[in-house]
Amino acid sequence: MPSDTPIYLDHAATTPVAPEVFEAMRPFFCECYANPATLYHSGRRAGDAVEAARRQLAALIGAGPGQILFTSGGTESDNWALKAVLCRGPKKHLITCAIEHQAVLAVGRFLAEQAGGDLTVLPVDGHGLVDPDELRRAIRPDTALVSIMHANNEVGTLEPVAELAAIARERGVLFHTDAVQTVGKIPIDVRQLGIDLLSVSAHKLNGPKGVGALYVRQGVRLGAWQHGGRQESQLRAGTVNVPGAVGLGAAAELAGRNLEANGRREWALVEKLWGGISGRIAHVRRHGHPAKRIPGILNVSFDGTEGEAVLLQLDNLGIEAAAGSACASGSGDISHVLKAMGLSPNSARAAIRFSVGRTTTGDQIDRVLSALPSIIGRLRDLNPLWKTPE
Ligand code: PLP
Repeated sequence: MPSDTPIYLDHAATTPVAPEVFEAMRPFFCECYANPATLYHSGRRAGDAVEAARRQLAALIGAGPGQILFTSGGTESDNWALKAVLCRGPKKHLITCAIEHQAVLAVGRFLAEQAGGDLTVLPVDGHGLVDPDELRRAIRPDTALVSIMHANNEVGTLEPVAELAAIARERGVLFHTDAVQTVGKIPIDVRQLGIDLLSVSAHKLNGPKGVGALYVRQGVRLGAWQHGGRQESQLRAGTVNVPGAVGLGAAAELAGRNLEANGRREWALVEKLWGGISGRIAHVRRHGHPAKRIPGILNVSFDGTEGEAVLLQLDNLGIEAAAGSACASGSGDISHVLKAMGLSPNSARAAIRFSVGRTTTGDQIDRVLSALPSIIGRLRDLNPLWKTPE
C-alpha cells in the first residue's frame, strides 16, 4: 500500500519549495504587497527585497546583480535569449544541439520556419555529449548565437560548456546556455564559463514555480522582451512578481550555502540506487555520461519492460519517478534525447528517470530497491516477447 507521503524521485521535473524559501516569500503576499515601482515606504521595501534577491542569485552564479533579469521561468528565459539575439540584426543562424529541452528546440524551429532564421542542430554521442569540433565546423559568418544546455534534464550529462563558449567567442558569436538543471546543483561561475546568456528556473532549486531569470553578460545588448512599463531595466515590462523573485533569491542563497555537500549527498544517493538496481536486477542499462553529469539524475532501462508500465507499478506503491521515453504530454513519443544518443526504440521506451533532491533519504532509496525487482520480474513475465538474453 502507498504510504501517505509519496517517495518523490522526480526532482528534475520540479522540487518542493524549501521551508526557508516559503518563509522568506510569505510577507510579500498579504503584508508587504506594494508595487515595487512605487515610492512610499512599503513599495520601497518590496523594491529592496527584489534587489536583494537579484544579488542573491547573482552571487550564486558569479554575476553582478545588474546582469540578472527576472522572468517567469526557464522557458521564458530561453525564448528571450534566442528570439532577442536572432531578431536583433542581420545574422540569423542559430546553432543548438539535439538533446536540448523543447524550450530551446521549439524556439529554434519557430525562428527557422517563421522568422527567417536558419537552424543547425548538432548531434551528440552515445553519452549525450556535443563534440566541440562539430561546433567549430558548424559556425558560419552569419551565425548569431550558439545555445547548448549546461546539463541535460533526462540523462544528466554535463556539456563541455566552457570549451564550447570559448569556440563561439573566438568566432565572435554569442553563447547561451540553458542552466535550468545546474543552477543550485553544481558550482557555476559565469565568468569562468565565459558565457553571454544563461537561463535559470526557480522551481528546480527548491524555489517557487513561475519565476526564473536570464543572466545577460555586461555589454550584450538584448532587445526589450515585453513592452509597456519600465520594469527590469526597461526590457521586460510588467509588475515584478515580488514573492517569486524573493523566493528565487532565497532558494539561490540556500543552495549556495550547502552546494558541494548537497551535490556529494545526491551523488551518493544516485550511486546507492544504481548499485542496488544493478546488483539485484539483470539486463538493465544506465544512460548518460557516467562521470560528466549532474549528481541527482539516474536514467535506466530495464530490458523487456515499458518505462510507463514500471512507473505505474511504482506509483501504486507511492513511488514517483519519470518515464524517459515519453514527452511531457504523455503522447508516447520516444524521447528525442535518448533517440539522439542512439538508443534503440525499445531501450528508449523502457527508460525511467529517477531524480533525487534535498528531501530524498537513503531509507527511501532502500524502499525503492526492495520494490523494484518484483515489479520488473512481473512485467517481464507478462511480456510474451521477453526471453532472458543468453
Ligand atoms: N530547460 C530545462 C533543461 C528544463 O529541464 C526545464 C524544465 O523542465 C525548462 C527548461 C523549463 O523551465 P520552466 O519550467 O521554468 O519553464
